[in-house]
Amino acid sequence: MQKSTDVKDALQKDEAHLWHSMKPFNPEATIIAQEAKGAWVTDAGGKRYLDAMAGLWCVNAGYGRTELAEAAYEQLKKLAYFPLTQSHLPAIELSEKLNDMLGGDYVIFFSNSGSEANETAFKIARQYHQQTGSSERYKIISRYRAYHGNTLGSLAATGQAQRKYKYEPLAPGFIHVAPPDQYRFPEEEGIKPAELKSVQAVDQAMTWELSETVAAVIMEPIITGGGILMPPEQYMQGVKESCEKHGALLIVDEVICGFGRTGKAFGFMNYGVKPDIITMAKGITSAYLPLSATAVKKEIYEAFKGTEEYDYFRHVNTFGGNPAACALALKNIEIFEKEKLFERSAELGAKIKSELTSRLQKNPLVGNVRGKGLLIGVELVENKETKAPLNAGLVNKVMAVCKEKGLLIGKNGATVAGFNNVLAISPPLNIEDEDAAFIVETLISELNAIADLS
Ligand code: PMP
Repeated sequence: MQKSTDVKDALQKDEAHLWHSMKPFNPEATIIAQEAKGAWVTDAGGKRYLDAMAGLWCVNAGYGRTELAEAAYEQLKKLAYFPLTQSHLPAIELSEKLNDMLGGDYVIFFSNSGSEANETAFKIARQYHQQTGSSERYKIISRYRAYHGNTLGSLAATGQAQRKYKYEPLAPGFIHVAPPDQYRFPEEEGIKPAELKSVQAVDQAMTWELSETVAAVIMEPIITGGGILMPPEQYMQGVKESCEKHGALLIVDEVICGFGRTGKAFGFMNYGVKPDIITMAKGITSAYLPLSATAVKKEIYEAFKGTEEYDYFRHVNTFGGNPAACALALKNIEIFEKEKLFERSAELGAKIKSELTSRLQKNPLVGNVRGKGLLIGVELVENKETKAPLNAGLVNKVMAVCKEKGLLIGKNGATVAGFNNVLAISPPLNIEDEDAAFIVETLISELNAIADLS
């Protein structure tokens, strides 16, 4: 579809029939993607873009992997579907593989999306406490600015009011505490280190909410959509200790951080902690098919093995763990391992981050460059001293000029508080060196032009 009349027609049909996520339809700004290879997406008009967001942080193995398409096709021909109230070989094999990657102490429950994986985790946490005699434990502690999904429970766990207030009342029992943020609340000399302060926020919530009522804490290793907020290195360890002290479970949301995004198989592996429950989606299939998983410590699973019917986990998911998605996920993980893409993410991410940090040091709009692996944030500010966030108009302008040059970057934070000012760079993990250079050069030259430094 190259002709401009065809593209115009498609845009008109789009406007007539399709309800898009998150923003009003804008034919000027909408890319109708037609095909993609590696990190590059070609639109219906033939223009090419480097997708430095890997879709929505999910196409980790890159676009155009025919071996992934073939793995799904071969499985669909053999066995397209069977429910996981029974079983099938791709689900068995994938659960074994995931368990291996996690260190061997887990069992896996499959669903289709990150939101569902988190809902599953909340229900498991609540029922676990009931099975073990603490039936009053139902509260889930989460952090402001975190995003955990679009369903009424996972949205309740989300700490961004602007996504929630039109849909309230959401599921009750979700408590929010301040997130760690090394840029805005850094460790200061003479004052309590940031790691203590932010861990204390979790610990105090447990006490003040009555820890006998708290079922779990949910956290991403690094808050991603809320602004790529870097925690102090000891933060997750501190939260885990607090959970142990108060008898709550630790749920770690790896929907974005998992499968190499932070330079390790899972984000929590950067912090030396073993979570009780781990949720994952997106990168598990590199988004070629929908699939998500909730990994649960075996000792928690054991509590569901009672003899009464009511001891079972009364939760079913029709499509979760369908054979084609599982077969594709296995091939996807094989690619990660064969091409050493987690290591690639760590190395290339560090290189991009260090180049952006040094070369944007003099740019007055750039307050902070941060991240781990190929999860990189560039926080834009009006003023480096006060750290006041850059106004939305200029942030959008940076995005628009990059897009004009063929570079798609992300923007995140929290709009209500005016903090939607963090540019996100999270390309496919198999991005070529010259593509990484294109990201760096384009971003630097556009930011310098807007700051009038060029
Ligand atoms: N958790 C996190 C950290 C996410 O970023 C997302 C989606 N962006 C979700 C959960 C929800 O995943 P899904 O959109 O697949 O339901």
